[in-house]
Amino acid sequence: MTYDDARAALAAWKADFPSDPYQNDVQLRSILERSLEGDRLVELDSRASIFARALVAIIAPAAQRYEQRLHLPELNRYDELGNRTETVSFDPAYHQAGEAVWSSGVVALSAQPGRAYEQATLLYLLSLEGEAGHACPATCTIGLARALRRRASPEVRDRFLPALVDPQYASAQRGAQFLTEVQGGSDVGANECLAVANEDGETYRITGEKWFCSVANADQFFITARVPGGPEGTRGLGSFVAPRMIDGRPNGFTLRRLKDKLGTRGLASGEIDFDGALAWPIGPIEHGFRTAVSVVLNTSRWMTALGSAGIMRRAVLEARSFARFREAFGVPVEQFPSMRRILADMTATSVGALHLVFALTGLEDRIDEGTASETDVLYHRFLVNAAKYLISRQATSVVRSGIEVLGGNGTIEDFSVLPRLYRDAIVYESWEGTHNVLAAQVLNDLRRLPILDAVEENLMSGLDRADQDEASQALRERLVRALGDARRCGEDDGFASWHFRSVLDELGVLAEAVYLWAAGEVGEATHLLAICPAPGAVVEPESVLAQRINALLDAH
Ligand SMILES: Cc1cc2nc3c(=O)[nH]c(=O)nc-3n(C[C@H](O)[C@H](O)[C@H](O)COP(=O)(O)OP(=O)(O)OC[C@H]3O[C@@H](n4cnc5c(N)ncnc54)[C@H](O)[C@@H]3O)c2cc1C
Repeated sequence: MTYDDARAALAAWKADFPSDPYQNDVQLRSILERSLEGDRLVELDSRASIFARALVAIIAPAAQRYEQRLHLPELNRYDELGNRTETVSFDPAYHQAGEAVWSSGVVALSAQPGRAYEQATLLYLLSLEGEAGHACPATCTIGLARALRRRASPEVRDRFLPALVDPQYASAQRGAQFLTEVQGGSDVGANECLAVANEDGETYRITGEKWFCSVANADQFFITARVPGGPEGTRGLGSFVAPRMIDGRPNGFTLRRLKDKLGTRGLASGEIDFDGALAWPIGPIEHGFRTAVSVVLNTSRWMTALGSAGIMRRAVLEARSFARFREAFGVPVEQFPSMRRILADMTATSVGALHLVFALTGLEDRIDEGTASETDVLYHRFLVNAAKYLISRQATSVVRSGIEVLGGNGTIEDFSVLPRLYRDAIVYESWEGTHNVLAAQVLNDLRRLPILDAVEENLMSGLDRADQDEASQALRERLVRALGDARRCGEDDGFASWHFRSVLDELGVLAEAVYLWAAGEVGEATHLLAICPAPGAVVEPESVLAQRINALLDAH
C-alpha cells in the first residue's frame, strides 16, 4: 500500500461517518418504536433527525474548536470601566453549538411533564460529541426547571421557570446546580453554606463558598444551604434558587477562578464565594435535601448515564468503521479474530447500556407525568443510581477499547474525537455521585425499602416476555443468585462492606442482558453475559477477603 492509498483509506473512514446518526441508530429507533406511538413517535423521529444532522454539520466542528486549550472559556471579572461583572466569555463557536442544542428543544421540553423520551434521545445524540460544552448546561437547566415545576411555590415557579424553558438560545436562561463544597462532595451533609431568612418572609441571603460550580456562566443557580438553627447533616439543608444578576449587578457572589479540568473542558466550572446572595426557597426548607436528590441529582444521574451511553455509541461507530478501512498485513484489521473480539465486546456493552438507560427513561417519563406506580418509583430509585454507576464505567472502558482499535492514531487529539470522549467519560464517572457513593446509596435503600422486590418484579417480567429456552433459564438462575446476594448484603453488613460493589455490577449487567433479551437481541445479551462473568468474589468469605486486603494495604 502506498502513502496515498493509506491516506485515502483514512479519508474514506472519515467520510463513512453517517450524516444522520439518528437514522443510522437501528437500536435506538427500535427502542423508541416499541415505547412510543402515534404522533408522539412521528414528532420525535423528525426532531431527532433534524438534530442529528445539526450535530454533524454544526456542533461537531464547533466543539472540535472550542474544546482546544487555546479556545477554552475565560473568566472576566471586570468590564473595561472596572465594574465588577463576574462573567465568563466563550469562543463564538461555543454559541453556534449552543444555538443548535437549544433549538432542538432538549431543554424547552421541560416545560411539559412527561417528555423524557424526547429529552433522552436528544441528549444521547448530543453525547456522540461527548460533553461538547452544552450537555451539562442542558442537564443542569432541565434539573432546575423540573425542581421549580414540581416543588416550588407558584410564585417562585412563575418567577424563574419561564426563562429556563425558553427555546431560543439567545434569550433563554441557563441553570446551574451548586452542592459541592471543599470539605466534601460526597458528604453533602457537611455543607456549611448558610441561608439566612430575610424579614420579608419570602427570601434568604446565601453566604459561603461552593467548590465545584459547573455552568459558572449560568443565569440561575440552584444552591443547597443550611438555615441557622436547623438540624445537622442533610436534614438541615434547604434548596434555593438565586438569579445571577440583580439590578444589573452580580447577585452577591464572586467567581474565584475557573477550574483547569481533565475533561468537559468546553464547559466553564468554577469556584464561587457567596456573600449575601438573594435567593428564593424551592419548596419548604425541610424538604430541601429531598428536592436536591430526588429531582435535581437524579435528573443529572439519568442524563449522565445517557451521556455515557452516547459516548460509547460514538466510540463503537468510530472503531467499527476504522477497522473496516484500516489495513495491516494486507487485510482490513477487522478481519483479525482478536480485533473482532474487541469490536464485539464494545458493541454488546454499548447496546446493553442503551437498553438499560432507556428502561430508566421510561420510568422518568411516567414519574414526571405523574402516572408512575409505587413499584415504578421504587424501581427507579434503584435504577437511576445503578445505571449511572455501571454505564459511566462501561463508557470509559469502551472508549479506551476504541482508542486501542485506532492504534497510535487513537491517541492523537485532532485525528479523532476519541481522546476527548475519553477525558469526558472519566469526569462523568465522578460527577453526580462517585461509584462508591452510588453503591452506598443503593445499599442503604435496599436495607430500608422493598427495592429488591421491585427489581425482581421488573426484571423477571422482562424475562417472561422473552423466549423460554435453556439460555434464558440460565439467565434467570443467574438473576436469582444475584438477587439473593443483594438480599444478603441488606442483612449482613460484613458481607456487604466487601462484596456489594461486585453484586451491584452483576445486577446491573443482568439488567442490561434482560432488556436486550426481552427486545430479541439475544446474541448481544449472551455476549454481554459471557464477557462479564458472575463475580467470583462473592463466593469468598468476607473475613478471608478483608484479611488479605488489610495485609496488602499495610504492606505497601
Ligand atoms: C468537572 C467537574 C464538575 C463538577 N461540577 C459540579 C457542580 O456543578 N456542582 C456540584 O455540586 N458539584 C460538581 N462537581 C463535584 C462532584 O459532584 C464531586 O466531585 C463528587 O460528588 C465527589 O465529591 P468529591 O470530589 O468531594 O469526592 P470525595 O467526597 O472527597 O470522595 C473521594 C473518594 O472517596 C470515596 N468515598 C466518599 N464517601 C465514601 C463512602 N461512604 N464509602 C466509600 N467511599 C467513599 C468517593 O467515592 C471518592 O472515590 C463537579 C466535579 C467535577 C469533576
